[in-house]
Amino acid sequence: MLRTFKIGGIHPPENKVSASSKIEALPLPEIAYIPLGQHIGAPATAIVAKGDKVKVGQLIAKASGFVSANIHASVSGTVTGIESIVDGSGYPRPTVVIAVEGDEWDESIDRSSTLVEETTLSAQEITKRVADMGIVGMGGATFPSHIKLMVPDGKKAEVLIINGVECEPYLTADDRLMVERGDEVLIGVKLLMKAINVSRAIIGIENNKPEAIANLTKLAPKYSGISVQPLKVKYPQGGEKQLVKATINREIPSGGLPIDVGAVVQNVATAFATYEAVQKNKPLIDRVVTVTGKSIAKPSNFFVRVGTPISQLLEAAGGLAEGNVKLISGGPMMGKALSTEKSPVTKGTSGVLVMVENMAVRPVASECIRCAKCVSACPMGLEPFLLNKLSARKMYPELEAGKVTDCIECGSCAYTCPAGIPLLDYIRNGKSAVMQIMRSRKK
Ligand code: SF4
Ligand code: SF4
Repeated sequence: MLRTFKIGGIHPPENKVSASSKIEALPLPEIAYIPLGQHIGAPATAIVAKGDKVKVGQLIAKASGFVSANIHASVSGTVTGIESIVDGSGYPRPTVVIAVEGDEWDESIDRSSTLVEETTLSAQEITKRVADMGIVGMGGATFPSHIKLMVPDGKKAEVLIINGVECEPYLTADDRLMVERGDEVLIGVKLLMKAINVSRAIIGIENNKPEAIANLTKLAPKYSGISVQPLKVKYPQGGEKQLVKATINREIPSGGLPIDVGAVVQNVATAFATYEAVQKNKPLIDRVVTVTGKSIAKPSNFFVRVGTPISQLLEAAGGLAEGNVKLISGGPMMGKALSTEKSPVTKGTSGVLVMVENMAVRPVASECIRCAKCVSACPMGLEPFLLNKLSARKMYPELEAGKVTDCIECGSCAYTCPAGIPLLDYIRNGKSAVMQIMRSRKK
C-alpha cells in the first residue's frame, strides 16, 4: 500500500493540465524587475545604483542578516533605478530595475550542458556556495536554503528528504524538472547529502506523477543512497510535517522542526538550483514556472528569468481570455491573489493560475453547523472552527493555547466547510497576532 500522512488531508481535483507540457525557455524581458525581498527574512541590500552596467549572474544585492539571501542580476543591461514595484504580495517593494541589453553572462558561470557529477568541495564549502548563490526554498516557502544545511549543535541529521510531492492542484513545475532534468536533480541531492553529512536521501513523489517516478527510479541507482518513495495523493503532503510522517513515519513535535526528528527537507527545484550553484557556479536567477488554468489556451511550463513580468508569461501561454477574473501566484490552495499582472516572477514563483469567474467567486458564508468536517480535514490535528471563532474575537491567549501557531495555512479546513466559512482568513490573522505577541515576549 502507498504511504501517506495519517491525520486529516483532503483530495481537491488535481487539474494538472500542464503536466505533459515540456519546459520551454521564455524569451528575455525588455525590462527586468528584481525585488530585494524575495525570501523569508530581511530584504537584501542593493549594491548597484542607477546607471550601473550589470552582467547575468552578477551580485546586485547582499544578504542583510542571518535570515536573508543574496540576489543576482538575471539579465544583462543598465540599472535604471531602485523603484517601488508591486510584487506578488500586493505591496510595493524596493526593486532593482534593469533595462535589458543583450545577454552577457558573468564569465565564471559554466553555461554548457555538460553534466558535472563530482565535486571537491567540502560540506562547509557547499553550504557557503548555496548561500553565496542566493538559493532559497523553491517550493514557495523561500526560506534561505543554507540555513537548513547548518545543523544546530546538539542535533544530528540522519536523512535528507526531498520534496517532489507538488500536491497543489494545477502546478507541474517540479514534475517537469524531475522528468526532464533528473540527473541534475539527483546530483543536487548528493550535494545536499554531503552538506549535512548523511548517507541516505528519500525523494517523496505523489503517485500522480508516474513519469517523474519512473525517471528518477531509473536514474537513482547511479547515485548511492538515494531512493524514490511513491506516495498516495493527498493534500497537503508537501507540508514538511506531513512529508516527514509519510516518508519516514516520524512525528515532528508541536512547534518543532524536521531536524528534531533527524530530517532535513529540501524541495526538488532547490536540489536542481544547488546543482547549478555548486557544479556550474550559477546563482539562482531563473526557475521553472507553470502557467495554467482551465481557460488558458496553452498551459505551459516555462524556464523564466527572475524579474520577468507575469504578463509576459500569460501572453506566451495564449493570453487572457474574456471572463478570466483572478490571477493567483502559486496554486489554488496556498497561492496568493495577484493585484497586477505586471508583478515580476521571483525565486518563489512556482506557478501562475488563471481562474475563471465561477472558480473565483466565494460562497456566501452561513452559520457553523458543528459538523466537524474542518477538524477531520486539518492535517495538524487542530480545531479550525474554534480557532476561527477565537481569532474573530481576538482571544489571543486562548488561541495560543489552541496551538494556532501550528497552523500551516493549508486551507483544507475552509475547503471542506459546508457552511462556506472562510476559516483560513480569520485563522491566519489570529496566528499572525499570536506570533507577534510571542516574539515580543522573547525580547
Ligand atoms: S489551514 Fe490551518 S487550521 Fe486549517 S486545516 Fe490547514 S493547518 Fe488546519
Ligand atoms: S466545517 Fe464549517 S460548519 Fe463544519 S464545524 Fe467546521 S466551521 Fe463549522
